Amino acid sequence: MARLVMKFGGSSVADLDHIRNVARHVEREVKAGHELAVVVSAMAGTTNRLVEWCRQAAALHDAREYDAVVASGEQVTSGLLAIVLEDMGVSARSWQGWQLPILTSNAHGSARILDINGAELIKRFKERKEVAVVCGFQGIHKETGRITTLGRGGSDTSAVAVAAAIHAERCDIYTDVDGVYTTDPDIEERARRLDKIAYEEMLEMASLGAKVLQVRSVELAMQRRVRIFVRSSFDRPEDIDPHGVPPGTLICDEEEIVENQVVTGIAFSKDEAQISIRRLADKPGVAAALFGPLADAHINVDMIVQNISADGLTDITFTVPIVDYERAKDVLKKVKAKVGFSAIEGAADVVKVSIIGVGMRSHAGVAATAFKALAERGINIRAISTSEIKISILIDAAFTELAVRTLHSVYGLDR
Ligand code: ASP
Ligand code: MG
Repeated sequence: MARLVMKFGGSSVADLDHIRNVARHVEREVKAGHELAVVVSAMAGTTNRLVEWCRQAAALHDAREYDAVVASGEQVTSGLLAIVLEDMGVSARSWQGWQLPILTSNAHGSARILDINGAELIKRFKERKEVAVVCGFQGIHKETGRITTLGRGGSDTSAVAVAAAIHAERCDIYTDVDGVYTTDPDIEERARRLDKIAYEEMLEMASLGAKVLQVRSVELAMQRRVRIFVRSSFDRPEDIDPHGVPPGTLICDEEEIVENQVVTGIAFSKDEAQISIRRLADKPGVAAALFGPLADAHINVDMIVQNISADGLTDITFTVPIVDYERAKDVLKKVKAKVGFSAIEGAADVVKVSIIGVGMRSHAGVAATAFKALAERGINIRAISTSEIKISILIDAAFTELAVRTLHSVYGLDR
């Protein structure tokens, strides 16, 4: 017997037929003797519609009322699932954020979970063998008691937080893919499902566009040491062997991964644009004079490369989110005279390809392998940045597929 969290996203609860399928998955785990908290999203499309209604009601609206509206989607799903479960003879009760309670910060629309009281759920597991069906995405502000939401995709984070609160053995995220892949299977058909991936690697994969989980959920899982298992919700419950290991990817502590590959996956992001500042005076304070105003404008700078100076002048290249590209150039134009440089150049048709793996910490030559492979394909590198477990390379977007496939194969991920 184990205590588990099962989380189902919008496409898994899209209509009553899907909700019935979810209920049968829950029943399967109940029959296996597990104690269960089930965290649900709103039915597919619902949250988008609610967000749109707020926008139409008034372009500028109070974030507290936005939360009051958009949190309602999950309320419907949790109630429906509890009804279906009871109808199947599985004892169940729905829980909204205020009922547990799930206490959050007051950042309406993107609140952070501060605390969840899991005691009542645990008591009911023991005394009534009752499945808890918990609304994802929502909580209440710890002082005002008003409803808050956690930001789009927030149910993943709810699920991990509930798992931590009830000391669950695992948080199973049932979704429309059957796990985390070595790269995007739409680009490389030889991409393989990973059996296990370390939290840190998953954080890189998630924030770089492998859009399986809300990034914050992985951060929380890493902090609270919650094991996440990503698996498909479209498998028929009766096809699952109750004693076998189902297909899926376990996101866990590095220590739990025995066979560490040097490289675990290749991610890419087309969400960044490149800006280069030419012939900038090479003296103390110039970087601050460029990046200070960008920070003041709330523009996030990612890769930064500065050349060694020649004749007292240098070039700086960096990337910004593509949505902030024009705004960033405007900010820089305004400081041009004061800072002193010759030109602002930029490119929006770029892609950042990243090689990710905790094994890099203890292996030399990982970067050299990438550079050689890309050179052989005639792919020019615009900028490079590295961390302990990641190498990111900025290239022309036209080469995305070639670069991803090349790197995927050169590190033996095809096998
Ligand atoms: N229903 C919310 C959304 O669509 C939360 C979630 O599904 O994770 O963003
Ligand atoms: Mg999601």
